[in-house]
This record gives sequence, structure tokens and C-alpha cells, in this order.
Amino acid sequence: MSACLFCRIVKKEIPANALYEDESVIAFNDVNPQAPVHVLVIPKEHVARVMALSSEDLSLVSSIHRAVQELAKKLGVRESGFRLVVNNGPDAGQAVDHLHYHLLAGRKFGWPPG
Ligand code: 5GP
Ligand code: ZN
Repeated sequence: MSACLFCRIVKKEIPANALYEDESVIAFNDVNPQAPVHVLVIPKEHVARVMALSSEDLSLVSSIHRAVQELAKKLGVRESGFRLVVNNGPDAGQAVDHLHYHLLAGRKFGWPPG
């Protein structure tokens, strides 16, 4: 059994309601939402963080962005806007070591981020 929480979600060992899924990407609601829309978009393949992406993984990045476009349309935030957040490493507060994009929407966001 994988110790990685998000790998376990990919393998359906931990339940998560998929809002989007294709051969390389899955997206599901964050368990502790920080906005009316808070979706996590992850590669099915285990990649720990941005700095762990190899050049062979770069197609994953475009697949993730394609998934974000589809989700923004499906969730009705294409025009109102959304924020994508990718925490990478300790200073950013990355808690789960499996690359994930936070798709946040449904309210105004401040800048600079906290
Ligand atoms: P990070 O701080 O690593 O960028 O974000 C990790 C995110 O994963 C957090 O927003 C947290 O709420 C979410 N999370 C942690 N455990 C689970 C879980 O078991 N299921 C879901 N859906 N989200 C989780
Ligand atoms: Zn993983």
C-alpha cells in the first residue's frame, strides 16, 4: 500500500468524489475548503513537487492545465475568475508531497497572498 495520501486517492483506497478525470489527471474537492470552490487537481503519477518534475513529465503539466480549463467551465467560474496555487516546499507550507494545483474560486482573493 502506498504511503502517499494522494496516490491512495488515485488508487481509490481513500474516497474522493472525482470532478474531473482523464488518463493522467484527477480532480476532487479539498477536504478543508478555503473558498466556495476549492478543487485539487493532481497528476495520477506520483510527482512530489514542482522541483521534482522531469522533462518527461512536462506533458503532465499541460494535462493539468487542460483539466483546469475544463473544471473552470464546468464549475461556472470561467468568466468570474479563479486562482491557481501550487505550494512547493516548506516556506510555501506544502503539506502533501504529491504535486497538486489548488483551484480556488467563488470569492475575491487578496494580494499579496498570506
Ligand atoms: P498543501 O498545503 O500541501 O498545498 O495542500 C494540501 C491540501 O490537501 C490541503 O488543502 C488539505 O486540506 C488537503 N487534504 C489533505 N488531506 C486530504 C484528504 O484526505 N482528502 C482531500 N480531498 N483533501 C485533503
Ligand atoms: Zn503520491
